[in-house]
Amino acid sequence: MRMSVLILAGTGEGRHLAEDLSQDERYRVCVSIAGLTRKPIPTSVKQRVGGFGGADGLADFLKQENVDVLVDATHPFAANISKNAVEASTLAGCPLLRVARKPWEKRPGDIWQPVATLDAAVAKLPREDARVFLSVGRQSLQPFAVKPQHHYLIRVIDPPDVPAQMVKHEIVVGLGPFSVAEDVALFQKHRIDLVVTKNSGGAATQSKIDAARELKIPVVIVDRPVLPDANVGETVCSVSEAIDWLGAHHASLIKRSV
Ligand code: NAP
Repeated sequence: MRMSVLILAGTGEGRHLAEDLSQDERYRVCVSIAGLTRKPIPTSVKQRVGGFGGADGLADFLKQENVDVLVDATHPFAANISKNAVEASTLAGCPLLRVARKPWEKRPGDIWQPVATLDAAVAKLPREDARVFLSVGRQSLQPFAVKPQHHYLIRVIDPPDVPAQMVKHEIVVGLGPFSVAEDVALFQKHRIDLVVTKNSGGAATQSKIDAARELKIPVVIVDRPVLPDANVGETVCSVSEAIDWLGAHHASLIKRSV
């Protein structure tokens, strides 16, 4: 019996999980991406691109495609799709598994200024001009337009449309993982005074946190959005835990069908 799995992706975890499961004959896998990345990373897995039209649309898709398990492996800051996943899983009666990497935790030596939103991060920037390393994703630059006095070093996966007000900026395009030595060198070269980042978590981009600690640079860190009904479904922290959970679920479906 093949178990049908829909993976909401947009993260490395989503991609890796899709690639692993597609090589396992117990599963029929479809991976769903929003389609915002200009150069999506090719996968060997069946893909669908674009939104479902809200929770109802996602629920309809789950029913039409006879999906056995919905996996939400979207980014921790992609709150709308995660909320839709919760609602759709309830509407369609389809089990939900969330793959949520752990947030970074403050360590001795870190100079963190935690904030709840991007706007609050902007408010933390000093009035006088500073050299700011901005690692918030290319869709999240607009709030910084109100502080054009700063020089922004913007690291992104895809080249962004930078708001016109942010005249003093430089772009670094890169997917990671980055090393701590690389990021220390980058911050030194650009004489960075302050780092602004979302608390995305994960090993691939933790280097900026470690580099800031090493150089004693303050980090304005945006906390994750709180998901309503986060207790619906199961949550695991890694791809390997997700594979174990899905394996156990597959076994229980087999047991029930005999
Ligand atoms: P969002 O605000 O939660 O989602 C906006 C809408 O995009 C959703 O309502 C949904 O449209 C559609 N969507 C999002 N992810 C989708 C997926 N995997 N498959 C199909 N439709 C999807 O998300 P966002 O913050 O704009 O992020 C968009 C994508 O980029 C996500 O997949 C996320 O994993 C990835 N990403 C986000 C960040 C970030 O910082 N936010 C960082 C890295 C990667 P419908 O309502 O029409 O279904």
